[in-house]
Amino acid sequence: MDEPIRTWNEALARFSRERPQQFKIWSGQVRLLRADDAVWILGVPSKFFIEWFSDNYLPLLAADLEKLSGKTPAFKFELLPEDNTPVPALTPPAGAALVPETRRRHPRLNESYSFDRFVVGDSNRLAHSAAISIASDPDCRYNPLYIHGGTGLGKTHLLHAIGHHFFESRGTERSIVYVTSEDFLNQYVSATRPQDKQSGMKEFRERYRRNCDILLVDDIQFISGNKDATQEEFFHTFNDLYETGKRLVITSDRFPKEIHGLEDRLVSRFQGGLIVQIKEPDLPTRKDILRHKAKESAIYVPDEIVDLIAENVESNVRELEGALHHIDALANLTKTTVDLDTAREAIRTIRSKKERILTAEEIIRVVSLFFNVRPQDLKSHRRHKLVTEPRQVAMYLCRKHLKMSFPDIGSHFGGKDHSTVISSVRKVETRLAKEAKFAGTIGDIETRLMSL
Ligand code: ADP
Ligand code: MG
Repeated sequence: MDEPIRTWNEALARFSRERPQQFKIWSGQVRLLRADDAVWILGVPSKFFIEWFSDNYLPLLAADLEKLSGKTPAFKFELLPEDNTPVPALTPPAGAALVPETRRRHPRLNESYSFDRFVVGDSNRLAHSAAISIASDPDCRYNPLYIHGGTGLGKTHLLHAIGHHFFESRGTERSIVYVTSEDFLNQYVSATRPQDKQSGMKEFRERYRRNCDILLVDDIQFISGNKDATQEEFFHTFNDLYETGKRLVITSDRFPKEIHGLEDRLVSRFQGGLIVQIKEPDLPTRKDILRHKAKESAIYVPDEIVDLIAENVESNVRELEGALHHIDALANLTKTTVDLDTAREAIRTIRSKKERILTAEEIIRVVSLFFNVRPQDLKSHRRHKLVTEPRQVAMYLCRKHLKMSFPDIGSHFGGKDHSTVISSVRKVETRLAKEAKFAGTIGDIETRLMSL
């Protein structure tokens, strides 16, 4: 283990020298637990951290580790125990310009997801003001606050920012509870295990009801489908908190009514508060975000490259950040500032990587699985409803996500006429506009496609 520790420390030291600001953000939270030639196991505080760290910093750190060790290890993560205080790096790397932390900080919240790091534009202005209001205004009328919007648009960021603000102004650690609906579900399931049902449930209810002043639930859509007990428990938790004047903030990738399998009484509770949507950022906001992110990470990017990224990466903020870091990594590798051509090439690579993931065959596979039919049924001429509905849905998804022409779609589905394809796609569009439940189903399938 000595060798990996030495390499790990060297990589940390290098990272801290080259990117002190970025290093400061994650360094106290990751620990090397074990390593062999092929796999390095890192201890981290949360599942959420894994995603964030893997998206933002691991690629850079991995590149350094690879250079230093001459090997290409894979990384695995293990969650550190909950009460684990942040760990310092194994040895403080020489030259690390660590800025002393002056603010009080909630250990379960991501430090960089604060209000002052959230860039406000037309796409998120309302969500941002509602978030500030619920975090700081004692008479806030927006309760519960329900924030919805596509992936990577800042919902989790706002949720943590609310938590930080609440914590700084009046909260104790236990009074601010941040949880993903998946974790809520898992914790509930383990609390109800027969062997520790009594103490388990007592602890669970203390955490979510008695001690809690503000409950922040991320990605509520994952609670659907788990009807029965978990939704029931969540409903009572919700009521309990609501009736005692506690605050609730919920995020989701869609409108409450569109969450397939979510009980009506929960839908109506969510609709009883304020519902705000975060949309995709417009061009000026994208430029603003990029400038902020570059400054925060101490990255120098010329204006024309900021413009180029903002004009070409439109879908979400996570991807904007990804493109910025990718280009910065290129600059570091070549030890020069990246010119426009190299940046263009980099963006093309990022885009093609993304587009390569989804194909008509993938859509057919995922849709068939979802509806429990065989892929060849979608390509057949059978007209049974069990088959026609998934076929229409799959055609619609090919049109929407792959921008395929109607004849092209037809040939992927066993040589159907383009007018058949057009009428299938239109049928789905009409139903989407009218049937919330159907829209929820399509949303579920899309989530699966996006997470391939
Ligand atoms: P979501 O939860 O909606 O999928 P996140 O909150 O995880 O999205 O945001 C993805 C990334 O984009 C995070 O790194 C977050 O800090 C950043 N981000 C999103 N919106 C903004 C914004 N308005 N200003 C600054 N950073 C943002
Ligand atoms: Mg999120």
